[in-house]
Amino acid sequence: MASPKPARLHTPVDRNIHNVVLGDLLFKPWNQSIYPEDLVPKDADRLYVCRWCFRYSCDGDILEEHKYVCKHRTIPPGTKVYDHGGYAVWEVDGQNHQLFAQNLSLFAKLFLGHKTVFFDVATFLYYILTFTDPNDPESYYVLGFFSKEKLSWDANNLACILIFPPYQHKQLGKLLMGVSYKLSGWDSNGGCIGGPEKPLSELGQKSYVRFWAERIARFLLRGKPTDTPVKSDQQKPGSTPKSSRKRPLRETMTVEELGLGTGMLTEDVITALKSMGLFELQATPKKRKSNRRSVDDMPSPAGQTVTICKSDVWEWAKTHHLSLDDPVSEEGFDGLWPPVVVPEEDERSITSEED
Ligand SMILES: [Zn+2]
Repeated sequence: MASPKPARLHTPVDRNIHNVVLGDLLFKPWNQSIYPEDLVPKDADRLYVCRWCFRYSCDGDILEEHKYVCKHRTIPPGTKVYDHGGYAVWEVDGQNHQLFAQNLSLFAKLFLGHKTVFFDVATFLYYILTFTDPNDPESYYVLGFFSKEKLSWDANNLACILIFPPYQHKQLGKLLMGVSYKLSGWDSNGGCIGGPEKPLSELGQKSYVRFWAERIARFLLRGKPTDTPVKSDQQKPGSTPKSSRKRPLRETMTVEELGLGTGMLTEDVITALKSMGLFELQATPKKRKSNRRSVDDMPSPAGQTVTICKSDVWEWAKTHHLSLDDPVSEEGFDGLWPPVVVPEEDERSITSEED
């Protein structure tokens, strides 16, 4: 998973590839390889990987030759769904691009510890994050990706996410997470509350909790995020119409409302609010006056009313240097979603070329 501090948590004890060369970047894997051993022997010093299609070889000359004929050297496979500021996201159907998806998965496994579904690529969609240098529009870089099950009974909007190590610490994981929420917001005829597949890795949990907290803070301070899946005519927590001239007061809303407003699962809302120190249930008006902070004994937290003090949210935002700008730009989707359906014949020809 995209992570703030990978090096400390991924001690390179058992890896059997010592270095990987992606394009012209050399770095170390975090985990053992699951590349076929007849192609990538144990204790290989270097594995060369094409930065466009993820073909691989231990022979640098082979990859050097390949890069001139790589069919994806000018454009990634799939359909572009997002494009803003040089960053683009491409939806790649694992069914139509099996070799690409398998090679990407093999590469990703070097950095993803706990995910194991890698060869069943046909049942997944892959969302590839690319960057194109404005000075060299002919060339692009793949920075990372996330995968998503085509049919998820749990409404998971993401299965795996990885920003490749050389590109980490640039908030790109948040961009991909934001895109995953945006896309799930469009699913199922205009509204689907979703979240990442659980359990999350330790690093994934850390990244997501921060992402959720920021998402909630933006919602409370600024209004709806760009990808609110459920239209709500209810009052916005960011604006109290009757008291607009006064300082922000304590406001109340249910965890469910907060989930609907942000497109997040209620369990994730609670996790995030707790991490922000903002999870304060409203006192039960008649029976007791105590403010109960624990939810352990709550039968249905979704319907519980939480008290949110906007000045606390501001404080959190300030302490955590929150930018009120969403990492995902709404304009980035303009004209790209829903994607134009590619005629079947074209898809077949792509598949056959690839395989
Ligand atoms: Zn290639």
